[in-house]
Amino acid sequence: MFSRRSDTPDNPAVAQLESLMEAAGDAVFRLDDVGTILYMSRRAIDLIVPSRPLLGTPLAEQIAIEDRLALEVALTRALETLEASRVRVRLYTHAAVLWVEIQFGAYVNERKSGELLAVVRDISAEQATEQRLQHLTTHDALTGLPNRSLLDDRLRMALAQARRTGAGFSVLVLDLDGFKKINDALGHGVGDTMLQVAGIRLRDALRDVDTLARVGGDEFVAILPGAVTEEELQIVARRMISAIQLPFAIEPHTLYVGASIGGATYPEHGDDEVRLLAHADTAMHRAKDTGKSRCVVYSHQKFTQPEHDVSMEAAMFEAVRNGEFLLHYQPIVDARSRQIMGFEALMRWRHPVLGLVSPMQFIPMAESNGLINLLGAWVLKAACMQNRQFEEAAGRPLYVSVNVSPRQFRNEQFLQLMDDAIALSGLRGEQLLLEITEGILMSDPEHAEALLHEITARSVRIAIDDFGTGYSSLAYLKRFPIAVLKIDRAFIKDLPQSIKDAAICNVVLSLADHLNLSTVAEGVENEQQLDFLAKQGCALIQGYLTGYPLLPEAALEALRSARALEPVASA
Ligand code: C2E
Ligand code: MG
Ligand code: MG
Repeated sequence: MFSRRSDTPDNPAVAQLESLMEAAGDAVFRLDDVGTILYMSRRAIDLIVPSRPLLGTPLAEQIAIEDRLALEVALTRALETLEASRVRVRLYTHAAVLWVEIQFGAYVNERKSGELLAVVRDISAEQATEQRLQHLTTHDALTGLPNRSLLDDRLRMALAQARRTGAGFSVLVLDLDGFKKINDALGHGVGDTMLQVAGIRLRDALRDVDTLARVGGDEFVAILPGAVTEEELQIVARRMISAIQLPFAIEPHTLYVGASIGGATYPEHGDDEVRLLAHADTAMHRAKDTGKSRCVVYSHQKFTQPEHDVSMEAAMFEAVRNGEFLLHYQPIVDARSRQIMGFEALMRWRHPVLGLVSPMQFIPMAESNGLINLLGAWVLKAACMQNRQFEEAAGRPLYVSVNVSPRQFRNEQFLQLMDDAIALSGLRGEQLLLEITEGILMSDPEHAEALLHEITARSVRIAIDDFGTGYSSLAYLKRFPIAVLKIDRAFIKDLPQSIKDAAICNVVLSLADHLNLSTVAEGVENEQQLDFLAKQGCALIQGYLTGYPLLPEAALEALRSARALEPVASA
């Protein structure tokens, strides 16, 4: 049919090589120094099945245009160095495009010019497997959407492009509202289907140039190139929320969920991927806290206190690394006997320059930048461990009270963290008291109710901190499994002179009594206050009168000296 040779090799070694290649069944070309085909082995012809004679034509003509430069480079390198070189390109055959690997070996012929042998190997199957593998490691198995690691790649690309071109982009973090309830009640099969459908709907709500990733649970992230104004973000977000609010028909159910979205734009709201995602996430939680099924776009003014400056935030991240956070323990004593019943763990930040920074200052910051989850997990573990040492010194059981902030409470890992802290320290559940604020209960009552029941199922008790200063909706006292009310210092401070405060304390104490709740009065500073509270039936006291927040060593000392005075307890 076609001639397989346009000339005879004048080098006997090459002739020998060619016949070896023929025998081995390789697809081999011999090329001159500009890549013109001089010879094709039988297998090479079988591979391409040329529709016209190829001898005397450039091999490059058989290669996909985008890959020709790479071919050129490999070919030149082989000729210049006389070392083997290799390239992966797409090769046109009569019927298809194959991924092939071509290995070039160059030599100098009798006429002192360069020639090449090109061995071609079909790697299409390999390439397909590689692509499948690549897909598996970069996509979420359930929805087929990009996963966290591909999202990170795309974000880095978007950042690089934005920095180069000056065109901005935005990220949206979306979390389904009410998904957990459905997942828990109807099982993971239904939940999985719902996530798959949600993924398809969200993808449809976006443009082709946008990236949509699923980053875990019921959380999705979109990257929107070119969308930079609040209006643009709100339009896209509304489309996404509407898509989610359509009924989900998952036999035999018809189900409804919502979606809360937070947005952040490069470069105004963050100039790297970590900050952008963190700020969009904060905004998403704000959307949840302020009514759900809406989108909140991050803004430095709205989301940070005036005193919150970026350098302080950077210092906090540094402080975690340097171990600058510590705990003080304030005694909680029996109102009558004044015996220490437990301690409240209070966080402190020992800043190398500023000295002790108040939790009133850094907790809101940690709450807004997400660091509270890290800090809170540490507090929980450290306080439970510390309590063991306290008990040893006291020679009797004590409890430890730990403050839990809203963002921690929403963290899916919270329960696991608590279980770990209990298991690690060997505390009994009832020895741990979690202090939460009314706001936690009011912002997402369904989630709060479910989680509180999980917590109390482990015998861990719940206290309402700063009672009376929040919403003061009494309905939740009935709805939620609460064990302790901590009466805020605001109502204690002017006791017993203030008639109003005396009346409020009176009512709270009698309410607690009727509902079978224990009470702690906060911020008790003098004997008159203690006396009044004890007479009204307040069970426990916490304040400077009976003990300042102490370093663990000082707290241990207080326990030991009290024990020495307790002949019965130390028996
Ligand atoms: P809180 O939970 O209500 O803690 C009681 C606060 O009242 C503590 O302030 C304590 O030092 C102070 N206090 C106690 N007795 C008296 C008193 O007799 N007079 C006066 N004037 N104050 C008294 P602190 O330690 O500055 O903590 C402030 C708040 O920071 C805490 O209020 C709590 O909401 C938060 N916080 C502290 N540690 C943590 C923590 O580990 N996690 C979280 N999420 N929040 C924490
Ligand atoms: Mg507290
Ligand atoms: Mg309090």
